Amino acid sequence: MRQPLESLDAFLEGPHQRALTQVVRKLLVSGRFLTLAFGHGPSTERFIVALARHFPARQVNFALVEVEPVRVTMGPHETDARVIDAPDRTPSDLVRALLRQDPDAIAVTRLEGADPTLLLNTVFTGHQLLLGTATESVDAAVAALCAGSPGLEGQVLAVIDLACELDGAGRLRRLLKGDGKGGLREVARVDGASVVVDSALGVDSALGVEVPPAPVAAAPRFAPALSSRPAPTRAPRPAFLPVTRAEPGTSLLGTRTAVRPAGSGWPTCRECGGPLALLVQLDLSKLPAPMPASHGLAQLFVCPTGGCELTDERSSGVLCEVVDGGVPVDAPAALSVEVIEPGAIVEWQPFAEDPTADDLTRLGLATEPADEGPLRCDKLGGWPSWEQGLEWPLDEAGLPFELLFQLAEGAVLTGGTPDRWDDATATLVPGASPARVLDPNSPCHFPSVLTAEAVAFLFWQPGTRRLAFRWQTG
Ligand SMILES: [Zn+2]
Repeated sequence: MRQPLESLDAFLEGPHQRALTQVVRKLLVSGRFLTLAFGHGPSTERFIVALARHFPARQVNFALVEVEPVRVTMGPHETDARVIDAPDRTPSDLVRALLRQDPDAIAVTRLEGADPTLLLNTVFTGHQLLLGTATESVDAAVAALCAGSPGLEGQVLAVIDLACELDGAGRLRRLLKGDGKGGLREVARVDGASVVVDSALGVDSALGVEVPPAPVAAAPRFAPALSSRPAPTRAPRPAFLPVTRAEPGTSLLGTRTAVRPAGSGWPTCRECGGPLALLVQLDLSKLPAPMPASHGLAQLFVCPTGGCELTDERSSGVLCEVVDGGVPVDAPAALSVEVIEPGAIVEWQPFAEDPTADDLTRLGLATEPADEGPLRCDKLGGWPSWEQGLEWPLDEAGLPFELLFQLAEGAVLTGGTPDRWDDATATLVPGASPARVLDPNSPCHFPSVLTAEAVAFLFWQPGTRRLAFRWQTG
């Protein structure tokens, strides 16, 4: 049954609440990640429902998940909202199903009824999340969100755009704005009979709101509004080309040194017993923005002998894991693998790329694929340059992983010049000796560690830090 749409009326009973609601809507439009409503549980739930149904930007794929009763509303606006009752499903089931449709924003009325790790994944995979919680403080809400992934508290604080405190009468008491680095600043509060709003927010003072002068340096710099996003005809993603140098570092490509848990030594193949080759080690705390924030060292090793099983992350010739601290370990001398310009990744060169036609179809984007699809080279983020069609890994719940790093074989340039005959002197002039060099616009550091024409993919789930490995050959 379609329920009558609730409104923001309850939150607009006086000029004070109108001013606060205006601030919330303003910050919601410029938000990208997490908007929290905390305090009195039933009030926060009603507030999230009202915000979702009156979401200030129309051109947004939006979904609302309510916990009691369990139901989902697609499209936030009264005129085109679709309500689906789902009494047999859990709220987490609905969020999982929604993530497969990749909406821009998801509202969940109650943190306490959902899987916190799944909610973190929602934010870390680029979906704006509006979330209600009956916790008394922002710190308590963050602790509840990190219940399944301890250690992420700092990263979660850094993705809070806005936190709204509500009282038992359904009134907004306080608004806190995140600075993107883990800090929260109070931008509005009810103070006795008046409301104090940070004037830098530009809220209309005709509402009878007391506006203290704001220091110039505190003026917030808003991200582009959601409503100004281009129509979702394509799905460009940020990607980065690695630039390596032969020096120590925490993000490494093809080096003979890696950080391993104390006492564990250099990893060996579980099939042939030989040393594995380090393809990549990525410091997840230093990924370039806007890659999700995380922590630990993601590592991918494979057996370079050519005869051992390398199918996926569980194979005997593959080691794919996140290491939280350890000691530098050198590879044994017996390890032999050709790497062009191995070393620390000292720079990430950013670019944006569009997916393949297959991924566009998967996303339901009826559009022509971009002239230039995903780059077939070593890169961070972006889209996989599939050789044999889609092969996104899924977890047990059916949630897809994201691309963390891609490695592509082949396409190695040979520098140097050939020997030449000089007619004038009738002598052979020796050329510069050839050396394999990287194409700076399409670097491929490993000429032939798998088949000499393969593309390998290291996938991850940012919230859980789970890794997956796949590779395809052309
Ligand atoms: Zn092996």
